Amino acid sequence: MNHAQRTARAASAAPIIALMNSRPHAVYGDRLDDAAYVSTLLASFDVDATEAPDAVAELRSLRAALEPAITADDEASVADGWRAVSRFSSDVLFRFQYAADGAPILEHASGGELRARMLTALTQLLESGDWSRIKECANEECKSLFLDDTKNRSQRWHSYETCGNKINAAAHRARRTAANAGSSPEHA
Ligand SMILES: [Zn+2]
Repeated sequence: MNHAQRTARAASAAPIIALMNSRPHAVYGDRLDDAAYVSTLLASFDVDATEAPDAVAELRSLRAALEPAITADDEASVADGWRAVSRFSSDVLFRFQYAADGAPILEHASGGELRARMLTALTQLLESGDWSRIKECANEECKSLFLDDTKNRSQRWHSYETCGNKINAAAHRARRTAANAGSSPEHA
């Protein structure tokens, strides 16, 4: 996979990951309380904030449904999550249309616009096969979700610069302290 493909892959997963990263987690509060975060999020779903009065409630609703589907460890909770996503989807209808050259187009027929856009982004992410690449940052103070697009799925931090360096530096300090404690005469 080349750089452009990796960038495209990360970009298509970004709106759903940003929605899930708005959840209260680690040291972060609920980012859906932040109007700027909400309007950036809506823009990423191609929705105009001024035309989506129920936007925050809609975002919260899908986020709550998806949270166990992404973060739960047990199958029953994951299944409960997907059932909740199905309920969220139940009043949105799509229909197939066909372009002049026969290309199939799945069009939103009825139900809320934002809901339809979020479900389309989610479905594309699921169909891309990248769902299982969504991981939680290994930094306990961060726990942000990210798309691991490395070949061997070995990425541990959402950002090496902000989380990986910090953890590595702390581990290095801890090792050095332990080594000093073990070898220096004053601790013997
Ligand atoms: Zn992180």
